[in-house]
Amino acid sequence: MTERAKYTKELSKLLFHSTNILGICHINPDGDAIGSLLAFYHYLYSKGIKAGMMSPNNLQEFLKWMDGAEMINIYVNDRKKCRKLIQDADLIVMFDFNHSDRLGEAEKFVLDSKAKKVIIDHHLDAQDFVDLSILDISKSSTSELIYEVVQEMNGEKYMYKPFAEAIYVGIITDTGNFEHGAYSGNTFRILAEMFDFGIERDRIFNLVYNNFSSDRLRLRGLALDNRMVVLPEYKTAYIYLTKADLAQYNYKKGDTEGFVNMPLSIKGIVFTALFVEKEGFVKLSFRSKGRFSVNDFAKKHFNGGGHLNAAGGDHYDTLENTIEYFRKVLMTDYPKESEPDK
Ligand code: 5GP
Ligand code: MN
Repeated sequence: MTERAKYTKELSKLLFHSTNILGICHINPDGDAIGSLLAFYHYLYSKGIKAGMMSPNNLQEFLKWMDGAEMINIYVNDRKKCRKLIQDADLIVMFDFNHSDRLGEAEKFVLDSKAKKVIIDHHLDAQDFVDLSILDISKSSTSELIYEVVQEMNGEKYMYKPFAEAIYVGIITDTGNFEHGAYSGNTFRILAEMFDFGIERDRIFNLVYNNFSSDRLRLRGLALDNRMVVLPEYKTAYIYLTKADLAQYNYKKGDTEGFVNMPLSIKGIVFTALFVEKEGFVKLSFRSKGRFSVNDFAKKHFNGGGHLNAAGGDHYDTLENTIEYFRKVLMTDYPKESEPDK
């Protein structure tokens, strides 16, 4: 039996022996966090098991249409109810992260809970804070991994359209609609099966990618025209947005999604960063092409993490100081000449 099959069997046992299952995704959930959480929920639901769902904070607008999204409890909107959900759970399954600080304010309560804890994830450098970890960094997305885990539990007969849609959204968002990320032939074989459940590709594309306000498009214009700094000597470009910029364009959660990728289209640029000024901290996103590890960079300098080519973090300082610090560390830690420009 492979290592994975052993873990899946273990999960299967835990699911069978639990009466109160709670699924939790990471803070600032992206399409894969919500996709994997909802896919798992739908799998259990069609098996006749009613699980609870929780996110540490709100969903971005482009994910709210998803089947079952309205059932996700938001910790920061109803702390009392969510603490009770955590307290009452005898099994907590966590999706698309592997560091407990990605639980936001709910971290302490989850760590203190006596529930059995499981992580299903595809990020690097897992922290060991659970009873069972099903990890595979070679997957395009946690959603792809969920499909495989469900299949391994002989769950194919419980797959149906809402499950397929959730898997599909997780895969397309974590690969930027197949522009980047670790997708493979296997990813497409899974997608082929998901299409057989009646995936409406154009409808979903419109809901995920053509669902923004005109203000968001103008904010993107500002970001590219006035807030982008290109440092060819470091093969690096970054974009910053101030709180005033966000306010001017009526910023809504999710509006800056994808901005960090844009400067990667400049010839010779292999490392990009996005700085978004928040209340009391700066939200950071990093992307790279080739071997330069933004996971290492985020971990080393900003207490963050993620994948080889996509990572993020928070920095508790002003925007000005954060950018100054970034530029300082960049002087020694940047994609060197030997890096392939692929
Ligand atoms: P994004 O830039 O799209 O917010 O995140 C890129 C990747 O980095 C995602 O896989 C996300 O889960 C991860 N990530 C984002 N922010 C953080 C963070 O603060 N800590 C860690 N460990 N990972 C992060
Ligand atoms: Mn993911």
